Amino acid sequence: MKILVINTGSSSIKYKLFDMDYHHKVMASGIVEKIGEDTSFLIHRRALSDGSGFDEKTEEGLIADHYEAMSCIVDLLVDSEHGSIKDKKEISAVGHRVVHGGEAFHSPTIIKKAVIKAIEKNIPLAPLHNPSNLIGIKVAGLTFPDTLQVAVFDTAFHQTMPMKAFLYALPLEMYKKNGIRRYGFHGTSHAYIAERAADYMEQPLAELNLITIHLGNGASMAAIKEGKCVDTTMGMTPLAGLVMGTRSGDIDPALPLFIADHFGMSLKDIDRLLNNDSGLKGLCGSNDMREVIDKKDAGDDRAKIALEIYAYRIKKYIGAYFAVLGNLDAVVFTAGIGENAPYIRELCCSGLNGLGIEIDSKRNNMIGNGIREISSPGSKAKILIIPTDEELKIAQETKRVIEK
Ligand code: AMP
Repeated sequence: MKILVINTGSSSIKYKLFDMDYHHKVMASGIVEKIGEDTSFLIHRRALSDGSGFDEKTEEGLIADHYEAMSCIVDLLVDSEHGSIKDKKEISAVGHRVVHGGEAFHSPTIIKKAVIKAIEKNIPLAPLHNPSNLIGIKVAGLTFPDTLQVAVFDTAFHQTMPMKAFLYALPLEMYKKNGIRRYGFHGTSHAYIAERAADYMEQPLAELNLITIHLGNGASMAAIKEGKCVDTTMGMTPLAGLVMGTRSGDIDPALPLFIADHFGMSLKDIDRLLNNDSGLKGLCGSNDMREVIDKKDAGDDRAKIALEIYAYRIKKYIGAYFAVLGNLDAVVFTAGIGENAPYIRELCCSGLNGLGIEIDSKRNNMIGNGIREISSPGSKAKILIIPTDEELKIAQETKRVIEK
């Protein structure tokens, strides 16, 4: 079974074609960027049949819209020279990443008219993402008219949170009438690494209490009790919780009012300030963790304090989620920073011996691939690094849904 996974942005389409019958092998992958501009470009990678790696093809020049982008992708997938398949009908289903499923979706679902309507209804909750995801669904439907389309929601994994964790202390009507509540994001990644952790620990996920920490450009944590999410750091929007590359994470909710009054900034300005100009970038001028660590190593005090604030927030949430869970089997790090920045992992986990979380510095600093255990042998809770793979998880969920 071959499954195409698609992640559509306002001017981009990312894709991966999986062979689900052959170790979930990635047959091809790529990205089309700057759709609608003269400088559109496409990078397509095809797995070589001898398993020795990928060859790459790039195309540049105007790709007018998402439909044309999807046609280019299909042409490359079935191209006689660079193709991975002979006919687009070989693709059994298209799995779409959809950012906001609101309360309507607790799990992946086959896309029908009512599903599209429900995703449209959630546009106010994700005005930047859901419209692009809908475009992806539309153009994939036109391109693959006989193929099942499946939506996999970023929010779905967090739908098991209890009310005490997802409700804000605001007038209750705002939740009931307008859906104002915590939803959480990165759900596909948290779900994937939780499952991998259970595999690694050789225990059923339903018996495990985990704290999962996704640290990429965006960052979030989840408290997982007996396999189910019971709390997460992002909120109604992805701005809440941890310090991120350019997002502030948690702040005093009165600050936007204060900033509007004292700096004469509009709501739009404040939105940009908190989402695009804060976080690591606001604190030390760079949002790329590698650069921030390099600056710190070169003696930059702003970078040093930015990293301390970044890790301190994570550590506070580890403590909070330990209290939520009652006992803990593992802390799991993932994504660009979680997988690759030992300095950050060390800052987050140091001094948590009282909670049974002990990091082993030597293991933490060892370079490696795949799943790694970095806790000391005496640590009550394991500390794991598990590479995330959101596309694979979307492909797996898509397969599961169409086989039901
Ligand atoms: P992601 O969104 O998962 O691609 O993660 C992007 C973040 O990971 C960026 O802040 C990168 O600087 C960071 N990152 C990637 N590789 C490393 C590394 N070797 N050391 C520290 N940070 C890294």
